[in-house]
Amino acid sequence: MAQLDIQAVTKTFGTVSVLKDINLNIRSGEFIVFVGPSGCGKSTLLRMITGLETVSSGEIRIEGARVNETDPAQRGTAMVFQSYALYPHMSVAENMGFSLRMAGQKKTEIRDRVARAAAILRLDKLLDRRPGQLSGGQKQRVAIGRAIVREPKVFLFDEPLSNLDAELRVKMRAELLELHRRLKATMIYVTHDQVEAMTLADRMVVMNGGIVQQFGRPLDLYDDPDNLFVAGFIGSPR
Ligand code: ADP
Ligand code: MG
Repeated sequence: MAQLDIQAVTKTFGTVSVLKDINLNIRSGEFIVFVGPSGCGKSTLLRMITGLETVSSGEIRIEGARVNETDPAQRGTAMVFQSYALYPHMSVAENMGFSLRMAGQKKTEIRDRVARAAAILRLDKLLDRRPGQLSGGQKQRVAIGRAIVREPKVFLFDEPLSNLDAELRVKMRAELLELHRRLKATMIYVTHDQVEAMTLADRMVVMNGGIVQQFGRPLDLYDDPDNLFVAGFIGSPR
């Protein structure tokens, strides 16, 4: 059974149809990367998977449970945004533990989980700093740490590296792969950088105009694109 099951999903805003008929089955532990031009509906789909946005029709299930009918704390998803969205007045440790505190977790449990995530992300020595005292890469690690402490089954990343410079982006790719290897969680990752996508993905979803153009392993897309859009998109330099 697929862990994440997206069935005949559509999304309209007013009269504008943004996603048309999305069908995807994603297995537990897969690293799935969505690519496609700006405005093609990638963020909207991620927001629907995590329940921040309703579906117009169709359904999204995680381990059989409809996302929109599941309590947010039980959905098992955690999202990492491009903007980091860190709380400037809180320390790194407080930022990472905040959602657990809101969920009423015990202080000792929060401390343990923050310490474990900090060790994985090499933030152990920075736990008392404020976001303003961190580099871009460190801020992005804190944003990832906030997701890790929630121990989600499915991580959702919305262009998490686009605010970083090219060199750091390449380094962070390796760190994300290492993170995936360690956590063995499902990762759903959005980028408009096809090189990043090819490096990270077990399977890739190429989207355009609210439609899935092709879903498959990076090499298969590269060797055997289903249509001209996929061929052009995969083949073009960024
Ligand atoms: P992507 O992440 O691929 O760049 P988005 O999912 O952000 O694309 O947006 C897809 C389309 O939906 C865009 O045309 C955008 O303007 C529109 N859109 C997104 N959110 C809303 C909203 N809340 N209300 C109206 N239109 C929206
Ligand atoms: Mg987007």
